[in-house]
Amino acid sequence: MLSQHRTHAHEVVIHGREDYRLEQVPVPVPGPGEALVKVHAVGICASDLKCYHGAPMYWGDGPVPPNVDLLAIPGHEFVGEIVAIDDIGRQRWGVDVGDRAVAEQIVPCWKCRFCRRGQYWMCAPHSIFGFRRSVNGAMAEYMIYPADAIVHKVSPDIPAAHAAFAEPLSCALHAVERARIEFGDVIVVAGCRPIGLGMVAGAAAKSPAHVIALDHVPAKLNLAAQCGADITINIGTDDAETVVRDLTEGYGADVYLDATGHPSAVPQGLGLLRKLGRYVEYGVFAAPVTVDWTVISDVKELDVLGAHLGPYCWPTAISMIEAKTLPLDRICSHQLPLEEFRAGIDLVGRGSDSIKVSLLPSEGA
Ligand SMILES: [Zn+2]
Ligand SMILES: [Zn+2]
Repeated sequence: MLSQHRTHAHEVVIHGREDYRLEQVPVPVPGPGEALVKVHAVGICASDLKCYHGAPMYWGDGPVPPNVDLLAIPGHEFVGEIVAIDDIGRQRWGVDVGDRAVAEQIVPCWKCRFCRRGQYWMCAPHSIFGFRRSVNGAMAEYMIYPADAIVHKVSPDIPAAHAAFAEPLSCALHAVERARIEFGDVIVVAGCRPIGLGMVAGAAAKSPAHVIALDHVPAKLNLAAQCGADITINIGTDDAETVVRDLTEGYGADVYLDATGHPSAVPQGLGLLRKLGRYVEYGVFAAPVTVDWTVISDVKELDVLGAHLGPYCWPTAISMIEAKTLPLDRICSHQLPLEEFRAGIDLVGRGSDSIKVSLLPSEGA
């Protein structure tokens, strides 16, 4: 048993905006149906960066109530080893002590209207790991998988940072599923950071006619090509609209997936799509975006679809990672020890230096 040798461990604790501290605390004790997990890797997400720097959507000084608790532990993209679990947990999740497992980023309540209808990713209380004290995250040596969590086993034979990539990849695959891709489709993916690269890989796996990746960083476009984009366009130097029109007899793309959350990506997508095309938005925007809605109605009769989290896509994401076909050594660009969490957050903030930055809280990683 773990408690024989470890009673205390390190974790990152949220004390306020730009005030996250590494603290020594007692190892959490799992309750009935819960698992105690030794964290191998935790990815740092753009949302962690926004929360750290104090975006109003987390701290309650914007239009929505606060979404983060003081003294919570951040981190929602993670993998770890089960070190303690009871029979209820074993049976529910099919995992045992020694197994490596991920938990989906949302812990559903299983009681609300959405959970009762299988739409657990839109669960009303919406407990995501790493923002609330009731669902502490993974920037810690040990964490709890609560009884209501959704847990999946992962191979121990892949690097921990790659296994933790199941979270962003599942999100990307869900966005791809929303697009209902068909064989002859021409797909455009805007943005080649982790979610966009996952969209490229997911879209390519559907075998459409073309997957076109857009970004303004050549190294990221190169990575998108490795993920399955057969055409890459540097929007800083080339005209995407001309390329897409030439490829489609002037009609435009069938599907546009936005992973940027940049205001210019919205009119760009509306412009690139053909009539009756499908727009999927995964981005989170810093401010409202204004577009001419007539393009959506009268001009093109578009389907505009949102996407959030990665419901029902985790098993596929995990098999894609285990198949080792994605360039994950390049996507998972930086791994740091837990103590260097601030350096990790800064790396994500600088953007162009990194793709996916991960912390490795324990050995076994
Ligand atoms: Zn994330
Ligand atoms: Zn619910």
